[in-house]
Amino acid sequence: KANRSMHPQDSVIDICGKKLGGNHFQVIAGPCSVETREQMVEVAEDVKASGAGLLRGGAFKPRTSPYSFQGLGSEGLKLLLEAKKATGLPIVTEIMSAAHLDLFDDVDVIQVGARNMQNFELLKELGKINKPILLKRGMSSTIDELLMSAEYIMAGGNEQVILCERGIRTFETSMRNTLDISAVPMLKSKTHLPVIVDPSHAAGIRFMVEPLTMAAIAAGADGVMIEVHNNPEKALCDGMQSLTPQAFDDVMKKVKKTTEFFGKV
Ligand code: PEP
Ligand code: MN
Repeated sequence: KANRSMHPQDSVIDICGKKLGGNHFQVIAGPCSVETREQMVEVAEDVKASGAGLLRGGAFKPRTSPYSFQGLGSEGLKLLLEAKKATGLPIVTEIMSAAHLDLFDDVDVIQVGARNMQNFELLKELGKINKPILLKRGMSSTIDELLMSAEYIMAGGNEQVILCERGIRTFETSMRNTLDISAVPMLKSKTHLPVIVDPSHAAGIRFMVEPLTMAAIAAGADGVMIEVHNNPEKALCDGMQSLTPQAFDDVMKKVKKTTEFFGKV
C-alpha cells in the first residue's frame, strides 16, 4: 500500500485543514517533553508566531535510562491540549503503548518513536484508527524496514502515515546520530507517503539544526520537526538540541525562503 508504483501521486495528509505532502510543507515545533503549563503555552504561542503549523510535545517519553524524566503522562496530554486550545495548533505527541490509545482521542497526529518502529502490535492497533500517524525511523532500521512498518499500519486500513528520518547510528560519534539525508529522495522514490526530517534528534546539537533543516528541504522533504524550548538550559530532556524561540524564529525565516525556492507552499 505504501509503494509508489501502486499509487504514483504523492499522498497529501490533512491535519485539521493543514496539508502535508505533495507541494505542502509543514513545520512541527515544540519542546521534547511537556513540562509545565507555562512552558507549553509559551512555546506554543512563540512557535505559532514564527509560522509553525503544528505543535509537538512528549507526554510519554521513551528514555534510555529508567531514572531519567519519563514525561508527565496523561497530565502532559492535558497540558498539550490546553496549548492546542490556546493557539489552535494541531498537536503531535508520542504513544508508547496501545493501552494508552483512549487518552489520545483529541491528539491530532500520533507519533511512533524510533524505539517503537518495530513494535508490530502497536502498529497494528494504530492501523485500526482513523488518524494520521507520524512514524519515525528506528535508529538502526533500513529504509525498507521503515516502509514495512508503515505497511503494518496501512494494512489495517489507516493509510495516513507520515514517515520521519531522524538520524541513524553510524560509526560517527561527533553527532548524536547521523542524518541519513539520502533516505529522503530514496523514500520519495519508493513511496507516495510524505517524508519529513527531524534535524534535532539527528544532530543532538543546537547549531546543526538550521543547516540540516536546509538540507532536508533541498533533498525534497515535506516537512521538518524541530525541538524548541523557552529555557533550553533547564529542559528536562534534550536541552542541548533545543532551539530558543528566537533561534527558531531565525530558522523559520530561512525555511520560508528555501521552501519557496523549491516550490513548496
Ligand atoms: C522525540 O521525538 O522526542 C523522540 C523521542 O524521538 P526519537 O523517537 O526519534 O528518538
Ligand atoms: Mn527529544
